[in-house]
Amino acid sequence: MAGSGTAHLRDDPNILLRVENLVVEFPAGRKGKVHAVSDVSFDVKEGETLGLVGESGCGKSTTAKAVIQIPTPTSGHVYYNGTDLAALRGEDMRRMRPEVQMIFQDPISSLNPRRKVRDIVSEGVRVWGSSKAAAGSFTQDRINELIEAVGLDPVAAGERRPHEFSGGQCQRISVARALVLDPKIVICDEPVSALDVSVQAQILNLLEDMKQRYGLTLLFISHDLSVVKNVSDRVMVMYLGKMCEIGDGDHIYERPAHPYTRALLSAVPDASVEIEVDDEVLAGELPSPINPPSGCRFHTRCSSAQEVCRTTEPQVRQLVGVEDHWVACHFPHETVVEI
Ligand code: SF4
Repeated sequence: MAGSGTAHLRDDPNILLRVENLVVEFPAGRKGKVHAVSDVSFDVKEGETLGLVGESGCGKSTTAKAVIQIPTPTSGHVYYNGTDLAALRGEDMRRMRPEVQMIFQDPISSLNPRRKVRDIVSEGVRVWGSSKAAAGSFTQDRINELIEAVGLDPVAAGERRPHEFSGGQCQRISVARALVLDPKIVICDEPVSALDVSVQAQILNLLEDMKQRYGLTLLFISHDLSVVKNVSDRVMVMYLGKMCEIGDGDHIYERPAHPYTRALLSAVPDASVEIEVDDEVLAGELPSPINPPSGCRFHTRCSSAQEVCRTTEPQVRQLVGVEDHWVACHFPHETVVEI
């Protein structure tokens, strides 16, 4: 699938995050390595939600975490407000850390069971410090404001411990904890997939409220296309460490150009997905990222694959007449700009 080529938004003054040629590899065995993320490039605009979607193991979480240098990428660049995070060290990195926060998949295990909610929410201030935090009243006011903002009673909830709350309430606490340092970007790593369906919508609404209220930019990771559809302004589809399609969320859902995106959409039981995509069926298992297929990595499962797909990696190309929609496929379902 995709690889070479970029999908950068040209001359957009609102780009907050620019990822260029990101590569993340992990050692595996004596000589092997896991190709978790392979040459991925994209932009995130300030105030938007970029949904990262794909099957489990496609590299979406690793991509998002590599943005905050955890793990440090093997190569590539991550520019935040024009600063290359890969080049930051020591105090410079420490100053940047509060700007990007994370919300994890399992809210219960991500909260320290021995601490009170008030201490959990204020944890970031203690760890990363803040000149404002030196004034204790600021901290307490901020903690109360955040606990209330996520729908809990600061007095009653603040003195209790995580096991006294439901999964949905624990995720509310996680959201408050992520916001205490006034971040600009929040990475939401499958934030609702461990929750009952009945409370998923509440947490998604809460994230949207927090985004508006605090001017956040969100990287929203999910394997669930219907969840991503509802929360994302733009969407990036990944497969086996590669980006295969990116762009305006509505446009991608209405006119998916990549066979993998179409196969994912055909499996979504969502009446709001209006396009006929049942011609694509996702067969077989995800290949190993230790030894990914040559050429287009999706060729072993793609019903449209031809010989060139086995030998040559497709470039990322823009759809004709569409400002924000790119695809990496030799034979996309939409007309693309030739290069
Ligand atoms: Fe990959 Fe070829 Fe299928 Fe496009 S048509 S997704 S390049 S295998």
